[in-house]
Amino acid sequence: MRRGLVLLLLSVGVAAAQRAPAGVLTLRFLDVGQGDAVLITSPEGKSVLYDGGRSEARMQALLTQYRVPSLDLVVASHADADHITGLIPAVQMFRPRFFLNNGLAGTTQIWQKLVTTAKQAGTQGLIAKGQTLNLGSVRLTVLPPPPGMKDQNTSSVGLLVQYGSFRALMTGDSETPETTAWLRQYPAATLGPVDVYKSIHHGARNGDTARWLAAVRPANVVISVGLNNYGHPTAEAITLYKKAGAAIYRTDLNGTVTVTVQPGGTYTLSAAKGTGTAATRTQAPPRVTPPAPASSVRYPNCAAVRAAGRAPLLRGQPGYSPNLDRDGDGRACE
Ligand SMILES: [Zn+2]
Repeated sequence: MRRGLVLLLLSVGVAAAQRAPAGVLTLRFLDVGQGDAVLITSPEGKSVLYDGGRSEARMQALLTQYRVPSLDLVVASHADADHITGLIPAVQMFRPRFFLNNGLAGTTQIWQKLVTTAKQAGTQGLIAKGQTLNLGSVRLTVLPPPPGMKDQNTSSVGLLVQYGSFRALMTGDSETPETTAWLRQYPAATLGPVDVYKSIHHGARNGDTARWLAAVRPANVVISVGLNNYGHPTAEAITLYKKAGAAIYRTDLNGTVTVTVQPGGTYTLSAAKGTGTAATRTQAPPRVTPPAPASSVRYPNCAAVRAAGRAPLLRGQPGYSPNLDRDGDGRACE
């Protein structure tokens, strides 16, 4: 059941220093050019960096801009340079406790540098095994590479972020063999619906499929992409997201995309530049929770509901109204 309320906030693209507000979950799909980097900060101020983009200097600037006070965990979805390079300054600056990875050593100097940096920082390696990690009150579920995957992309580590009814999913640069295996492993109800979803592999042709998206059921897709020679994002990927009814954001056009999630799971999305294609979704929302059916029962307030012995009122029941459901969790007058 989708409970998120999507609001579009147009903000100016000024690189002012800004800290994640307290008491809410913040996800930032950072504008790192061609690459991936997602900064997740819990309501308690604990942070995770899932991938770091292709540039050390850029990540250093972003971590400073967003006034990240500490990092508990860094995650490499896989060992490609456009995902791990920025993890190096992140580890140097914050000495996180853990470095979660797919257990498949990279063959590049950048990978070696990251491993050496982590050792020097006392950061402990953690191989993705399907763990559930608590980031304060936020639950992180690790989707490990399924058995039999042979290369870096198909061994991407996925991360499902849950806070109240809110869900976000990122799966690095996975390809069809990996998502097909995950579909066998995880029931569709485990995967979706997802409020915010990172497009696989910068919108490559061999990433997202209709079958996978039918399970994930994303409301908003963020494509982390910059100038590139690969044709990312491809028209095929964009068509898939449109067919899934998702609003589309692109870090090359929208800059950093920030998601702010209130306790309970209500969320807002804001882009540093522009509004993505969310407007089309607002006109024809495919999976927004339907309003309660019209009913002759109306309660002016929760006192009246309790007096009638009807508390809590569930969404869909006669007399339920969003006005009585302050945290928007589908249970009014709890
Ligand atoms: Zn990549």
